[in-house]
Amino acid sequence: MKKYLFGIDIGGTSVKIGLFNLKGNLLKKWDIITNKEDLGKHILDDVYKSIKYQIPNLEEVDGYGFGVPGPVVNSKIIKCVNLGWEDYDLISIFSKLVNNENILVENDANVAALGETLHGAAFGYSNSAMLTLGTGVGGGIIVNSKIIDGAHGAAGELGHLHVVKENGRLCNCGNYGCLETVASATGIKNTFIELQKNSNIDSTLKDKEHLSAKMVIEAAKKGDVLSLEVVEDFTYYIGYACSILSIITNPDIIIIGGGVSKAGIYLLNKINHYFRKMMFEPVKETKIVLAKLGNDAGIYGAASLVKNDR
Ligand SMILES: [Zn+2]
Repeated sequence: MKKYLFGIDIGGTSVKIGLFNLKGNLLKKWDIITNKEDLGKHILDDVYKSIKYQIPNLEEVDGYGFGVPGPVVNSKIIKCVNLGWEDYDLISIFSKLVNNENILVENDANVAALGETLHGAAFGYSNSAMLTLGTGVGGGIIVNSKIIDGAHGAAGELGHLHVVKENGRLCNCGNYGCLETVASATGIKNTFIELQKNSNIDSTLKDKEHLSAKMVIEAAKKGDVLSLEVVEDFTYYIGYACSILSIITNPDIIIIGGGVSKAGIYLLNKINHYFRKMMFEPVKETKIVLAKLGNDAGIYGAASLVKNDR
């Protein structure tokens, strides 16, 4: 009898594995190390062994959903630079291992958006978008409870919206002035360093070692003028990105997640302030909220991909 679903979120350093019942409730979760040797060809084997250890009778498993760190189009992985995968046919490789056909794969930021929509911050809504502000900036767009991949798997890659018009910093993607260069943890830190160099304003963080985005935001909350300038800068850009998003797919709700979102309501109020200044009047009901599931969003979303009744 089928009893379980698996949600598997493959990252560059670890693979998060979630065991769910058929209703989509999380029963158990654990991590394994991502073995990237030999162009990542051991990763799926390791996942299989770990699953088999927990559920020896794989006949009880109804399906396996995956999130991977790279673009996916029609369940085909185009490229995962972090893992060494290119044109990688995860579905046929894994289906042979587990002898199961109910396997689906999507981009990791997209499954996180799906997880937050079906089980987290956007529960009850079917049209949403998520911005994940971490080391980089990721995103995902959900329409009618389904992930939008687009023609090249780039739909929802909100970190690469071109937002800084002049003198933008170089982004990991090779362009200049992407949202990621200003609104990621790294971007926030870089903006502070840049401003400090070009300004006479004093700051409590002046010449601090191991400067982090968190320190900048905390200092801004306490009234540090230079840090506040940085916070106004990146929340403006996020508000701008939200205003663009809000008229492209017109989501009910925009979810802000990732490490930077731990700044909480303080951050949300600033993003909302700029969003409301720039938005198109008919989208004024659009809500902007904080993510709820943290690192579990990916496994929830991945399992949802293969859940029968959604
Ligand atoms: Zn970029």
